[in-house]
Amino acid sequence: MSDTKTAIITGISGQDGAYLAQLLAGKGYRVVGTLRPGAATDIPGLAFLDIADRVELEHLDLMNADDVNALLRQEQPAEIYNLAAQSSVGTSFGEPTDTFQFNTLSVQHLLDAIRSVSPTSRFYQASSSEMFGNVGRDRLPIRESMLFHPASPYAVSKAAAHWLTVNYREAYGMHASCGILFNHESCLRRDNFVIKKIISGALDIRAGEQERLELGNLAVQRDWGYAPAYVEVMWRMLQTGTADDYLVCSGEVGSLEDMARLVFTELELDFDRHVSFNQALLRNVELDIIYGDNGKARRELGWEYDLDRRRLVQQLIADERAFRAWSAAR
Ligand code: NAP
Repeated sequence: MSDTKTAIITGISGQDGAYLAQLLAGKGYRVVGTLRPGAATDIPGLAFLDIADRVELEHLDLMNADDVNALLRQEQPAEIYNLAAQSSVGTSFGEPTDTFQFNTLSVQHLLDAIRSVSPTSRFYQASSSEMFGNVGRDRLPIRESMLFHPASPYAVSKAAAHWLTVNYREAYGMHASCGILFNHESCLRRDNFVIKKIISGALDIRAGEQERLELGNLAVQRDWGYAPAYVEVMWRMLQTGTADDYLVCSGEVGSLEDMARLVFTELELDFDRHVSFNQALLRNVELDIIYGDNGKARRELGWEYDLDRRRLVQQLIADERAFRAWSAAR
């Protein structure tokens, strides 16, 4: 029998899917990535990271329990990383039903398929810091022990999926863990996410292709990190003797305005001249400030992370330039 471990990654076409596939392929895993039915198999993230030929793609309807069962029965994966989700907080206010249905039922189907046809599979669920909602400043930083108070349809769906995962772990003894990740960025982030939008916009302004960048609430304070470093924790969580839940964050907090100013300063652009406020970009409910304590992941998983915000911005700009050059040459 082969010693090669199979890992299934749902949401392979997303930001984290590509970086996690790169990490696992580098560790010698056979990587199976799932796509929504009918989705194109030419995935820019995998091509950019030069790993498209190291990932086997499967179309899978995660809303269909029989299809999920069939794939797990056939593959008997050692590890399953569930990254597929409607992942935008903003979109979730416009599409609450689809967001809630997909982000919860897909998880239920995966957990139940593990229980019934692939009980040795270890499971990772992509939980989110959004689940905590507006935490009072006196209670920060966020820790694993704090209660959730989700403040968007997205956050509510992720909280439900989180507790489903915990419930299957406790009820059936499954190795099922949740990574509660804070915002993490890369050049593979979708265009509707604000840090990608700021870096793209600033590079376009720098190139003379655009004059202004419109942003919403710049006062929000967040804990931002680097996606390629965060996916490593997902893997570490599935190598432990006992499954558990972990916060994954930088521990550093800053405002969106600070981040945007850092980007413009790095690119030697005048922030006040080019950036304007657009009321239409405000959300129904906004989290004022969140940041976390990553001590548990450091202590128990041996995870190391030391990218401060300035170096993060420099790295993201360099990556975005590389991604643009690669896209232009395609
Ligand atoms: P992403 O880039 O938006 O990728 C989401 C993935 O889910 C894509 O592959 C997407 O497929 C798939 N998906 C969405 N709706 C689907 C559906 N109805 N059927 C099948 N697949 C569907 O997200 P990410 O940044 O990689 O994040 C990965 C996971 O971590 C998500 O669950 C997200 O909610 C969670 N998370 C992310 C962050 C963050 O800062 N990035 C923080 C905390 C938690 P298509 O390409 O076909 O749309």
